[in-house]
Amino acid sequence: MPADPAQLDQDHLWHPFTQQQGWGEEGPLVIERAEGAHLIDVEGRRYIDGHSSLWCNVHGHRHPAIDQALREQIDRMAHSTMLGLSHPGAAELAARLVAIAPPGLSRVFYSDSGSTAVEIALKMAFQYHQQRGGEHARRTAFVRLREAYHGDTIGSVSVGGIDLFHATYRPLLFETHAAEPGDAADMERILDKIGEEVAAVIVEPLVQGAGGIIVHPPGYLRAVRELCDRHDVLLICDEVATGFGRTGTMFACEQEEVAPDFLCLAKGITGGYMPLAATLTTEAVYEGFLGAAEEFRTFFHGHTYTGNPLACAAALANLDVFEDERTIERLQPKIELLAELLEGVAARPEVVEVRRRGFMVGIDLGDHDPALRMGHRVTNEARERGAIVRPLGNTVVLMPPLGISAEELRSLVAITADSIAAAVASAAPGSSVAGTAPPVA
Ligand SMILES: *Cc1c(COP(=O)(O)O)cnc(C)c1O
Repeated sequence: MPADPAQLDQDHLWHPFTQQQGWGEEGPLVIERAEGAHLIDVEGRRYIDGHSSLWCNVHGHRHPAIDQALREQIDRMAHSTMLGLSHPGAAELAARLVAIAPPGLSRVFYSDSGSTAVEIALKMAFQYHQQRGGEHARRTAFVRLREAYHGDTIGSVSVGGIDLFHATYRPLLFETHAAEPGDAADMERILDKIGEEVAAVIVEPLVQGAGGIIVHPPGYLRAVRELCDRHDVLLICDEVATGFGRTGTMFACEQEEVAPDFLCLAKGITGGYMPLAATLTTEAVYEGFLGAAEEFRTFFHGHTYTGNPLACAAALANLDVFEDERTIERLQPKIELLAELLEGVAARPEVVEVRRRGFMVGIDLGDHDPALRMGHRVTNEARERGAIVRPLGNTVVLMPPLGISAEELRSLVAITADSIAAAVASAAPGSSVAGTAPPVA
């Protein structure tokens, strides 16, 4: 008999963003299969995938068209390098990304994760200004938003603003300037003061995901673009979370008719199948790197599995499904339904605020003692009721696959509402469950 995966997990694994102390006591929930909007554990229990397997899945699991594209690609080749060679999938995908991206983005640089997509944009922006020379070489600073999240590598953490995740590493990071999210006047003040030293402003357009689903007021992104133009500053839009339909349009930038100088894509790019990322930029930036080899204007960066052919095949199939199934168009009534369903949730006494754009939802439960682990309680309650959700602190996040059915969506929101009520009740003073809460380190 094969060894018990839960036991092997407890013996050997170290999970991301997880306090391992206490992990073994509750779980681990071992997912073995998936189907559409559902995950299925080793015992055969089914759960609605309420966070799209961490904001990645788009059309549902085991989509026949993406499955088939991967089978066909594996019969041709699993991997070949992009360093010194090319392959058809990478080339076709680049053309198709350029075709759907905001205007002016014409070049595609691949990598493997959202963090690397951001690292690449930061390094390209920096090097671009250095190579322009003269006054431009003074542009070495970056402006980011408070509560920003751009990934976990040191460069992307430098432009991150979530103290819980990032404060420890401050001594290792480069200096950045923090702007207030959604406050165009604050961005204007910063750029008026230090604009000539700034290489780029980086933002998550419309919605800051890991910061707690912070939704910017309409017009903010547009205003940031105009301020960047005024100060000759490059704009990096990190659409790792918002891209591929999550806010209701293919890219969030479209909603304010903004074309950034860099567009960072990952998570949903392969439909949630494979690790792949892309950093798109303009011909102007690209040309800033051209020159004879001995001029050393080359972009000296590249991850070994960059542009992996299997990942590119999945990404191409993902785009095919968007077209064939008119995913964005068919998403609109589901967004309306979700908004309607959430009105009931927002009215509940346990809920302070519901923030939403498209299919990105944050249900804020307000301040609770961290030792109560309120978000975590909701996750456990939801699991009992057949849904997987993951909180950001005391904000319960819902981000279902775009392919979820109306019925499944109703069920997900109902489970979430019941779970919130049960979690808050279990944490109330005098509740028998509160005393048995697992220890928090
Ligand atoms: C998840 C995320 C990242 C990091 O992506 P990884 O693939 O986890 O490295 C970067 N930016 C945003 C906006 C994200 O949501």
